[in-house]
Amino acid sequence: MSDSPRNAPWQPAEIVRIEPRTPRISSFFLRSALPRPLAGQHLDVRLTAPDGYQAQRSYSIASAPGAELAELLIEKLDDGEVSPYFHEVAQAGDTIEVRGPIGGHFVWRAADGGPLLLIAGGSGIAPLLAIVRERAATAPEVPALLVYSARTWDDLAWRDELFGAGADTGAFTAIALTTRGASPRPQDPARRLDGALLADLLARWGHPPRHVYACGSNVFVEAATSALVAQGLEPASIRTERYGGAG
Ligand SMILES: Cc1cc2nc3c(=O)[nH]c(=O)nc-3n(C[C@H](O)[C@H](O)[C@H](O)COP(=O)(O)OP(=O)(O)OC[C@H]3O[C@@H](n4cnc5c(N)ncnc54)[C@H](O)[C@@H]3O)c2cc1C
Repeated sequence: MSDSPRNAPWQPAEIVRIEPRTPRISSFFLRSALPRPLAGQHLDVRLTAPDGYQAQRSYSIASAPGAELAELLIEKLDDGEVSPYFHEVAQAGDTIEVRGPIGGHFVWRAADGGPLLLIAGGSGIAPLLAIVRERAATAPEVPALLVYSARTWDDLAWRDELFGAGADTGAFTAIALTTRGASPRPQDPARRLDGALLADLLARWGHPPRHVYACGSNVFVEAATSALVAQGLEPASIRTERYGGAG
């Protein structure tokens, strides 16, 4: 594990396959020789153009720590530089550069226990998916509530894994928040995350969260954390990962 990405060496990674998840998010499965990550960590990715121009961005690792291939969930931003490259140019068999795994704060291990409150906005689901997968594999008895917000039901990635028949194992509960149009599930609120909604979801869940992980755009994470602190949650129990942007 490294917290100082500038010291970590770049390594080649092969894009083994690409799978669309939503109209704007695809999974990119990478094979590399990077060390095994912890759930919640990210990679730095570097692209080099034929003229030598380089661009690098960070992407959370969505796969479970023990997975053979590292899965990145990349959302296409139309006015972006790197994410459109992944969606429009990158192909299976291509080699890119990666370094990591990076991040020592936004991680969860079975020994950390729970109850766990996981709050994701858009592509911010990526590191929380790794935590959901790690919890299912190593500590399925730990109560976890995932609150996953996206514009529409179709914009939620990995819907079957998170909301499908096999997903609710008793200790794991997933709630979808859709801000433009309702989800087909009656328990999912069709509205934006705010303090009143969080208070209602937490009361229904019935477990005071010991660890909170919130990930998404700056504005989304800010809204989630200020609502949680207003509910009386200890700020030290809240870990955040901010992806940038305002959406
Ligand atoms: C630790 C970390 C982990 C990350 N993990 C992921 C991940 O798993 N999946 C993923 O898709 N992205 C992730 N990101 C964001 C990613 O690093 C890039 O910022 C993102 O892909 C945009 O890059 P770009 O080159 O396409 O856009 P840029 O050319 O960098 O930006 C284009 C425009 O989009 C705005 N913008 C940048 N980010 C966002 C955003 N998140 N939402 C809305 N607008 C934005 C910029 O302000 C700018 O106006 C992560 C960021 C961090 C710091």
